[in-house]
Amino acid sequence: MSLRTTYDLVCPRCADDRRLIVEISTLAHLSAEGTEPFGDQYWGPSSVCRCPQCDYHATIASFAAADPQHEGDDETRLEVDDQQIDIVGQPNCNDDRARRAAHALRAYRDYTGDRPVSPDENVVDLLTDLRHLCDRRDLDLGNCDRIAHTAYLAELAEAKGGGR
Ligand SMILES: [Zn+2]
Repeated sequence: MSLRTTYDLVCPRCADDRRLIVEISTLAHLSAEGTEPFGDQYWGPSSVCRCPQCDYHATIASFAAADPQHEGDDETRLEVDDQQIDIVGQPNCNDDRARRAAHALRAYRDYTGDRPVSPDENVVDLLTDLRHLCDRRDLDLGNCDRIAHTAYLAELAEAKGGGR
């Protein structure tokens, strides 16, 4: 049994269909002692999903086994994916991830040729410009950020647990 036969899901990057990591929602009793989950767990097309084989992450909808109706969407997605290929080819170490971002931020500042700004301003400017870029490419930055945040938390947890 594979995820492809059971759920019609497969990693669009490495084609692995044995195991994926998915964000679930469930209800929990909240008290002073913390949360106590109960009841059913839910996940669906907009749930964040990650392939542990190649580190690809996107919403579950992106993991749906080939659907000809969405070929147009896939092309848009490929453009974004190209920018993620570097990420996948590298060792999964959070120091390396931070280093990559520092390179990108430096390249951005070099390109703008603005006077030196504080690190905060630099990040804010880049994020602001990214919003404009997403507007023009019809991308949902909020959704990208949600996926990124979940991936970030998973990477933190992985670093804590797996020593990577
Ligand atoms: Zn994969």
